[in-house]
Amino acid sequence: MSFEFPKPTSTRVNEFQSGYHHRFELLSRYKRERLERIWGEKTLEQLAQYYKLAKEQGLSQEEIDAKRSDMLKPLKEWLEKIHESQKYHDRAVEFLVAPFEEDNVLQVAKQELKAGSEVREMIEDVERGRLLPELFEAALDGYYDEVDRLDIPDKLFEAFVSYHVKRFRKENEAPIKNEIPGLKRRFRKRCFEAISGLQLPLQKEVVSRRLRETRVIVKDGLFMLEGHLGRFDVDNGVITISGWNDTLNELELTFTHEMMHVLSGRLIWEIKDRYEDAETKLLYAIFGSKAQSVEYEHRRIGVVFSTSKKFRFFWLNEALTASLTDDVIKRPFDVSYPSERKLLSLLESKIPRPLFLAAYFENFDPEKPADQRIPHWNALIKKITESYGSGFLVKLDKFVQEKGVDEAVKIMELPEGWRQIQGMYA
Ligand SMILES: [Zn+2]
Repeated sequence: MSFEFPKPTSTRVNEFQSGYHHRFELLSRYKRERLERIWGEKTLEQLAQYYKLAKEQGLSQEEIDAKRSDMLKPLKEWLEKIHESQKYHDRAVEFLVAPFEEDNVLQVAKQELKAGSEVREMIEDVERGRLLPELFEAALDGYYDEVDRLDIPDKLFEAFVSYHVKRFRKENEAPIKNEIPGLKRRFRKRCFEAISGLQLPLQKEVVSRRLRETRVIVKDGLFMLEGHLGRFDVDNGVITISGWNDTLNELELTFTHEMMHVLSGRLIWEIKDRYEDAETKLLYAIFGSKAQSVEYEHRRIGVVFSTSKKFRFFWLNEALTASLTDDVIKRPFDVSYPSERKLLSLLESKIPRPLFLAAYFENFDPEKPADQRIPHWNALIKKITESYGSGFLVKLDKFVQEKGVDEAVKIMELPEGWRQIQGMYA
């Protein structure tokens, strides 16, 4: 059976449009619930369901063991990557060692490890009082560097995962969650002060509304190998804070940095009738136009422009975000993106900072006449063109994407170095 879906249409809207607000309610009720927050949690749930089913259907022990092994394999492989990475090696070791403080894990280890295996002998020595528990822990650290970690017995690995999930909830998620109301309060206060002091070209209502509409979730650092302590997903309106923000200072910086992204200007596209996933397709087939699919996409946030193919000015956006974070928070300092900030400061020798800030916070307004929708961005580009020649910002961005930020800094530091970049891309 075939079914005709209407053709998708897209229009640019501003954030005052009612549907755009409504989506935050819908997302908070439904989509965000599905976000996986703790590494391994979903696998544990699936395993629990499977064990129940296996019991009902009387599956054999071999079948159950094979299935467990299959389900844990991706986790083991991911952990192996973390263990091999220089930056996060210690986090993987912690995952492997910390669970042994629990009796239940010690019991599983004794059952699952072969007699004579090093760890099993150490556990038995601890029990007989022949080995101090602290020494056992220290020995485990080194032990896991030696052995093939993919060979850790599945049941023991499962016990590690379940220990990890419990511990993350208690020691990372709960304390950070407790801080969120205070973080929001302080952020609002600091922004209002900066707005009153004319440091932030922004309206207080925007701060309040976007604070209200943005959900903050705490996510396990084990997911985030790329090393971000925070992220802002504008399409879903979610700030993700890594559980690896270890100190309150670090947390304050991460939160403030991500909130700057939240406050930065947006270009919003409303896309109707794009039935991409099975769910919206099915709903449309049943309910027709009553279940019209409406989605919102952000083609610009701050000064990052995105199309399906490419991003532009990511470095500039992060440099502005980090320096704005410093302006608002005052101390401690945002140490992220140092090279990007250096590049920005080099541009600031010719381009006044307020031009950058006004463009960063500018929202695209489709209700204005065509030439007045992004006046601040246009003013910034005009000034850059006057100072560095036409198309310079795009050329600099191309250079950064091809050669990296540090190379761009090197050239821009040379006297008249910008001419080299201008000349590279005719
Ligand atoms: Zn950022």
